[in-house]
Amino acid sequence: MKFDVLIIGGGAAGMSCALVLGSAKNKDFATNKKIGIVIHQKASALANGLFNNVLGLKTGTTGKEILENGKKQLAKNYPDVIQIEKEKVTKVEDKKDYFIVTTNKNTYEAKTIVVAVGPSNLFAIDGLKQYIEPHGKLPAKKERIQLKNIEHKVANGIYVAGILAGWRSQFAIAAGSGAHVATDILTEWNDGNPTMIHDTIF
Ligand SMILES: Cc1cc2nc3c(=O)[nH]c(=O)nc-3n(C[C@H](O)[C@H](O)[C@H](O)COP(=O)(O)OP(=O)(O)OC[C@H]3O[C@@H](n4cnc5c(N)ncnc54)[C@H](O)[C@@H]3O)c2cc1C
Repeated sequence: MKFDVLIIGGGAAGMSCALVLGSAKNKDFATNKKIGIVIHQKASALANGLFNNVLGLKTGTTGKEILENGKKQLAKNYPDVIQIEKEKVTKVEDKKDYFIVTTNKNTYEAKTIVVAVGPSNLFAIDGLKQYIEPHGKLPAKKERIQLKNIEHKVANGIYVAGILAGWRSQFAIAAGSGAHVATDILTEWNDGNPTMIHDTIF
């Protein structure tokens, strides 16, 4: 399967990135773009969390609910976004014009990838390990990592989003980072014109 953009990681950042990209599907510059997300959620920081301090979420919302409802929200509102469930990315190969993304079950091609797998030092994606550095904004004793980046861009065709981009670990920050990367990609697709996607009630 060939993607224009493939998001790796279905947590706060990856799902937010997918939602914003999906919401652009009716724009001329995005209509023909194929968007996918590898939603391996086993290692998500959300799994054990309780999210009372996130704007718009009901008090008592658990991370488990966010993970489940996020997939439903994406499928219902933006069914064009392909959700690849229960696969873990193991390798990324740079073929210059595109990437080969290998999971434990399949291989995919993608022109652009967004890496949003969280800051664990168990990071195990071959082909991206050369970008790893110690996380600059989390306690050193936790030994978290980030990928070297400038404003989320790691290298040509490679973005990083969420806490792996070097941000502190809060849901809203991770989600904002994913949305930020989505608008960067949309801006690229829209010939460099600064792009945001806003729906209205009228
Ligand atoms: C116990 C706990 C409580 C928390 N409580 C709060 C709170 O009250 N308020 C708040 O704002 N924040 C809270 N947080 C922080 C918040 O959950 C994180 O900041 C946020 O989830 C980070 O988002 P992310 O997308 O960077 O990473 P994650 O949400 O961790 O998403 C990363 C995703 O990538 C997937 N992944 C990993 N490796 C691969 C791979 N090789 N291939 C494909 N997918 C992969 C993981 O399974 C996961 O789904 C809490 C965190 C924890 C651990």
